[in-house]
Amino acid sequence: MNAEPTIPVFDLRIEPEDIEAVENALRGGELSAGPKVAEFERLFAASLGARHVVATSSCTTALHLSLLAAGVGPGDEVIVPAFTFVATVATVIQAGAVPVFADIAGPEDLCVDPDEVERLVGPRTKAAMIVHYAGYPASAARIREICDRHGLALLEDSAHAPYADEGGRSLGTFGLAGCFSFFPNKILGVGEAGALCTDSDAVAETARRLSAQGIAPTPDRLDREDLTGLDVAEAGFDYRLDEPRAALLVSRIVRLAAEVERRRELTRHYRARLAEIEEITVPFTDAQVEGCSAYTMSVLLPGGNDPAERRDSVRRGLLERGVQTTMMYPGIHQFVAYRERFPDVSLPRTEDAASRQITLPLFGGMSEGQIDRVVAMLAESLEATA
Ligand SMILES: *Cc1c(COP(=O)(O)O)cnc(C)c1O
Repeated sequence: MNAEPTIPVFDLRIEPEDIEAVENALRGGELSAGPKVAEFERLFAASLGARHVVATSSCTTALHLSLLAAGVGPGDEVIVPAFTFVATVATVIQAGAVPVFADIAGPEDLCVDPDEVERLVGPRTKAAMIVHYAGYPASAARIREICDRHGLALLEDSAHAPYADEGGRSLGTFGLAGCFSFFPNKILGVGEAGALCTDSDAVAETARRLSAQGIAPTPDRLDREDLTGLDVAEAGFDYRLDEPRAALLVSRIVRLAAEVERRRELTRHYRARLAEIEEITVPFTDAQVEGCSAYTMSVLLPGGNDPAERRDSVRRGLLERGVQTTMMYPGIHQFVAYRERFPDVSLPRTEDAASRQITLPLFGGMSEGQIDRVVAMLAESLEATA
């Protein structure tokens, strides 16, 4: 049906200098945490305007550390969205706490509804974990104010949101800790890697110690192989980042600002073209594109009798026409593991969005011409399934 190659939903560009940086790290002799990890932590902290960055083996491990550093444990509740990746909620369970699901604001704003967060605060609530969906701010200042008023820790799953801000302040720096992902399909993808940022010396110290087996870095133990005099006060994990991936991060982070700017440009082009298709909803506002990381391009298809069925046919139609798509996300409360534990959860706005959402291709190396093709094929597929 189409002669042109399929437009992928995401495309990661590795440049020759990135490969050289990894090769140098491999030849450097140190393969676990070393100078490149420290350099990346400094660079990323500076780009966020955060006091500390602790590099981790993934965003999932960073989220786990942030919950533990916030003192979340058995008997506690953590308010979370369900319209997110499973890691946001699974880590709450791993910390021994109970996730309490908050609905999203609605089809125009796929982030959590601040009023819902406030409504769900109870005597056991210890923290709220917000997600900056697709790199758009989740009312961070407002939720911070709610958390402060109720004595809760605010944690930010900023997996989608490096180089994004709300009112000039970097996403990830509103709460006690912010967690980032460098998984290959994320903006700064390098493999399995993540980071935790915080302005709190205590949170940084706890996260760093727990990420390295609970062993506190002591200046008098100069030789890391020598375990004489070592004592460990707490059982920890091995959640550290290694040198080759840190080298790739250092090499790629210098291009991040330009890449995000290009993503915003492409998003503006998408929004102008998508406005011509009346039936669909394009979440977020033109003004919000300015400070977002433009991680993904989301649209909500029309409702109707069986919106999920229509959505699946439109996605099939797009694939036949050379356009790959994904859906982000099925509501977490509808997965078996959570359905069984929390059978009474009902989140009408999350469920509505989950049944109608598709993610269109968006990546730094994309062209305006490719966007025009995606939008034309979307219009065609909608018509074919009407
Ligand atoms: C990707 C993602 C994660 C997990 O990131 P990893 O680095 O793969 O552990 C967590 N939360 C959200 C919202 C994500 O999109």
